[in-house]
Amino acid sequence: MKILVINAGSSSIKYQLLDMDDESLMASGIVERIGEAQGELSHKKIVKGNEQKTVIEKKIGNHREGMHLLIDMITSAETGVIASTDEIDAIGHRVVQGGELFNSATLIDKSVKQAIEENNPLAPLHNPANLTGIAVAEELFPGTPNVAVFDTEFHQTMPARAYMYALPYEFYEDLKVRRYGFHGTSHKYVAKNVASAMNRNPEDINVITIHLGNGGSITAVKGGKCIDTSMGMTPLAGVMMGSRCGDIDPAISGYIAEAKNISAAEVDSILNKKSGFKGICGMNDMRDIHESAAGGNQRARLAVDMFCYQVKKYIGAYFAALGTVDAIAFTAGIGENDDIVRAGVCSDMEGLGLELDAAANDGRISHQKKISKDGGKVDIWVIPTNEELQIAQDTIDVVRGN
Ligand code: ADP
Repeated sequence: MKILVINAGSSSIKYQLLDMDDESLMASGIVERIGEAQGELSHKKIVKGNEQKTVIEKKIGNHREGMHLLIDMITSAETGVIASTDEIDAIGHRVVQGGELFNSATLIDKSVKQAIEENNPLAPLHNPANLTGIAVAEELFPGTPNVAVFDTEFHQTMPARAYMYALPYEFYEDLKVRRYGFHGTSHKYVAKNVASAMNRNPEDINVITIHLGNGGSITAVKGGKCIDTSMGMTPLAGVMMGSRCGDIDPAISGYIAEAKNISAAEVDSILNKKSGFKGICGMNDMRDIHESAAGGNQRARLAVDMFCYQVKKYIGAYFAALGTVDAIAFTAGIGENDDIVRAGVCSDMEGLGLELDAAANDGRISHQKKISKDGGKVDIWVIPTNEELQIAQDTIDVVRGN
């Protein structure tokens, strides 16, 4: 089966075409700057592990034009990997916010689109863009099933004590204010794969999955099911991130708005775009931060120090929430590539049974690897995430009715 995975943003469409017979990637790419004067498509054709890259720069007026362009890319003689779109068995769409309406991937029909739309107020930047991607795919791939895979669905197993905020109860009832959590596709993939790497059933183990990329979130997974996660109603909560503040005293928002005479929307923008690593040291890429820290930049050092400490505290909290922990697993850009952060997070955690193997933790890790000492009480793993593969697997399950 061939599955096209679509991640439509407000001005971009990321895509991957996967051959699910052997779970291999056939093509991938991104259409960017849709609607701007100059758009760009960068496309990779992958044949037997070899990549052939094509970049096209031209005006891409809307998502429909963008989708046409990617169809041309995957089907043309030069850059393509299939003869016609008829070869695509189903399309899996990443949808950011499923709210309480979706706890699993779902075949898209009119009522599902309406339900996604109902969740627009909770993800005003993402859900409308995801819906545009779905509408364009329905138009350009007539007859091909479309499946929605939600960032939030894996977290729907959280108990009320973990997802409720201590606010007036009607805010939950009227405004749907609660913890939803994000990166669910990644946490699901990592929890499942760390279990298989350990030769254990996911149902039999408790795991803390640690997704540290531009955005970061940590999830407590008990017997394969999420019981708590660090992101909240929005992806702003939890550990500090590239440019997001993570958990702060909620009173700070009002204080800043008043002291600086700015609106709630401006405060929100500062917390999302000018905070986190960027707020502390002016940089949001961890590679630059390490380089600068090595050169003596104290703010860069502080950013790394704060980050490791915050991740460490979540791990401690989730040990308490889970009772027993069999493994913790790092993933995503920082989690997979950054041995300094992994070492910082795991330092002085012997009391909890975490003992990093310094030699195994060396450098960037691009495959599933255990990085704790043999015989330790709790395994430490690096499990490279693959959200698109998880979306494709979920899409197949839905189409087959599993
Ligand atoms: P996104 O959340 O955008 O999907 P990624 O998972 O791709 O993010 O992670 C991006 C981040 O990973 C970058 O901002 C960078 O900080 C970090 N990163 C990537 N490679 C390295 C590396 N070799 N060392 C440290 N950090 C890295």
